[in-house]
Amino acid sequence: MNNWIEDGRNHIWHPFTQMKTAPAPLPVIRGEKEYLFLEDGTRLIDGISSWWVTLHGHAHPKIAEAIANQAKTLEQVIFAGFVHEPAAKLSKRLSELWQNHLTRSFFSDDGSTAVEVALKMSIQSRVNQGNKKRNQIIALEHAYHGDTLGAMSVGERSVWTAPFNSLLFEVVRMPSPVAESGPSGEDHKQYCLDSLMSYLEFHHESVSAIIVEPLVHGASGMLMWAPGALSEIRRLTSKYGIHLIADEIMTGFGRTGKWFACNHENVMPDIVCLSKGLTGGFLPMSITMCTEEIYGQFLSDDRLKAFFHGHSYTANPIACAAANASLDVFEEERTLDKIAAIESLHQSRLNEYQNHPLVADARIQGTIFAVEIKNPDGGYFSAIGPKLYDFYLEKGVLLRPLGNTVYILPPYCISIENLGKIHDLILESLDWILKESV
Ligand SMILES: *Cc1c(COP(=O)(O)O)cnc(C)c1O
Repeated sequence: MNNWIEDGRNHIWHPFTQMKTAPAPLPVIRGEKEYLFLEDGTRLIDGISSWWVTLHGHAHPKIAEAIANQAKTLEQVIFAGFVHEPAAKLSKRLSELWQNHLTRSFFSDDGSTAVEVALKMSIQSRVNQGNKKRNQIIALEHAYHGDTLGAMSVGERSVWTAPFNSLLFEVVRMPSPVAESGPSGEDHKQYCLDSLMSYLEFHHESVSAIIVEPLVHGASGMLMWAPGALSEIRRLTSKYGIHLIADEIMTGFGRTGKWFACNHENVMPDIVCLSKGLTGGFLPMSITMCTEEIYGQFLSDDRLKAFFHGHSYTANPIACAAANASLDVFEEERTLDKIAAIESLHQSRLNEYQNHPLVADARIQGTIFAVEIKNPDGGYFSAIGPKLYDFYLEKGVLLRPLGNTVYILPPYCISIENLGKIHDLILESLDWILKESV
């Protein structure tokens, strides 16, 4: 008798879940490649990389082995006053991926803490230079940067932040250069850049940093940016000495078709936040990287200028070993080729969506495919989302719509057959909505 399912029901509080009305969570016992296996024998295709973390597939043997070996060698050590090979190797490899423009890695635990670290790093670097007035943060509309208080502060205010709004700090909110189709698209991008430019012209001396999700706003519905906006933001921030913080927590490690979203526009940020795919999706860890210049602003004979941040599990050796193994897999399995194949399959299916009467917009950025469904009762709590979630699950695919946007964000190991099946299923669901007037 399987008591653990009952135990979970009695003792666990699930994230983003209305525990009273949500259906019982699905008991998972095993994962392999793009598949999740449930307790009753059902096999699901994981179309969203388990909340955007799984890169090379579930339980990838190479990463699992690296984790086991590291656990038997050194499972954890205090990271103040001590260092270990997995962290040293990883930090060097990440710097190389950023062409040694970002030279320093500061470790923390998850995406939200990586964002907290980035904000504190920028602000304290100003204070260390005796510039306490340069303390504003610019953030964008549609932004999502995590669920801790600082990360929520830079995120867009929404129903999710409403209970806490009185605790969040103020930021300067700027419009986001989200791509708009049709002739107004170029105007919108220019409007966003002009807004930023005119703010900076008069207030740049008060601004420490701007934080952005480069090219794709993930949680706000896989909204994609107009090309060229990111490099323009870089140009403006460089001009005024403002830190560009790139939150690559979702976009990093190949998700958008290149190693990092910033690579699409040859942009080098001052600070970058990495998490989610960092360990291949095996263990929670994050890294905030910065330039040698920012790092240098903390060097002093004065101990009060040291960076005031740290966590119990900073740079956990097992998580670092997983991250190193994930980077090895990129080389050994030619993962960037797989990523290119995923994108070209998305591209080859795009016109089927564009020709569908229910589709408001369909878009692609690398491995991410998103389709926005025309829906009068739109918004995040759109009733269509949960119905579609159930529809897909019944057919053996895990997809979790964001409001009325359905998206695919697959593990890179997914077979082309299975990816095609997911597209077939989404198109089938659109017909189902039309036919049944769901
Ligand atoms: C998921 C996400 C975060 C938060 O990461 P957590 O690990 O969930 O705290 C921050 N920024 C972006 C862009 C994300 O997608």
